[in-house]
Amino acid sequence: MKKYNFNAGPSMLPREVIEATAAQCLDFNGSGLSLMEISHRAKDFQPVVDEAVALFKELLSIPEGYSVIFLGGGASLEFCMIPYNFLEKKAAYLNTGVWAKKAMKEAKLFGEVVEVASSAEATYTYIPKDYTIPADADYFHITTNNTIYGTEIRKDLDSPVPVIADMSSDIFSRPIDVSKYGMIYGGAQKNLAMAGVTFVIVRDDMLGKVSRQIPTMLDYRTHVEKGSMFNTPPVVPIYSALETLRWIKRNGGVEAMDKLAKQRAEIVYGEIDRNKLFHGTANVEDRSLMNLCFVMNEEYKELEKDFLDFAMKERGMVGIKGHRSVGGFRASCYNAQTIEGCEALVACMKEFEAKH
Ligand SMILES: *Cc1c(COP(=O)(O)O)cnc(C)c1O
Repeated sequence: MKKYNFNAGPSMLPREVIEATAAQCLDFNGSGLSLMEISHRAKDFQPVVDEAVALFKELLSIPEGYSVIFLGGGASLEFCMIPYNFLEKKAAYLNTGVWAKKAMKEAKLFGEVVEVASSAEATYTYIPKDYTIPADADYFHITTNNTIYGTEIRKDLDSPVPVIADMSSDIFSRPIDVSKYGMIYGGAQKNLAMAGVTFVIVRDDMLGKVSRQIPTMLDYRTHVEKGSMFNTPPVVPIYSALETLRWIKRNGGVEAMDKLAKQRAEIVYGEIDRNKLFHGTANVEDRSLMNLCFVMNEEYKELEKDFLDFAMKERGMVGIKGHRSVGGFRASCYNAQTIEGCEALVACMKEFEAKH
């Protein structure tokens, strides 16, 4: 049975990326050594980082004055590094889900945190829109795609203070105006690479403004100055990111990714809205194009487990169980997700409907 991967993260990557990375793990650039066993200082590895950085800049049209770095520790470590490096007195946060809340929790260790708005009272089913960003905040933190709840801020917000965005689960899925952000970051394992590397795009003039001492490894300047080579970087994950970036470029860049994301979403949300068994959980105008969340309608609730069993065991739909805090189902459709995969999911939903 063919498997369709709807995992939320780590998640589906293009087959070509996996094969090219696997090949380099066996023999890196014809050296007779594995990518896993070479020094990150080897002259062959520097070009990998250089090309990955160059492709970040090219694909996202990153303007002058920004640095791209690769770190360990996941997006979760950024939750702490951000206030460490940027919070002098006060920071503003938009609370759109569990990840946003976790980011706020760390920031509170460093200074005053203003929650400008929250959709917690509605299980984060929408993106708050009417709020004021305090003009004296050091930055405004947002989570552009709420992986668990299936909501997304799919545009670049205006703000009187630098916007810092967690784009773990929607980076490279649409063109972004990087000049509207002080920093963009994310764990790579949703839409970019295998697990193990975090990307950071930071505006250089944001750095070095706080008065506190910052431990060397937690100071963004260390990694900017050393081009992600201060200590041993996650070599294989960075390589897999490079292969994905090349794949995005070969396939038409972020404009093409955006178009595909819209096509996939139309197919899957179209069926969620049509099918009498299901309904979507997120506010329609805030629906994520990356994580499509839906549940069984009240009168069919008892069929939830049957549908999961049918979809997963009999039709090869992997990872469509919703996050435990939302329940139901979640079809994650990152860049690598195919139209064929979405159509297979729709066929499976229709088939199940016909049986009931
Ligand atoms: C998965 C996820 C995280 C956590 O990423 P880690 O790399 O596991 O720390 C943070 N933010 C968002 C939006 C996520 O989807």
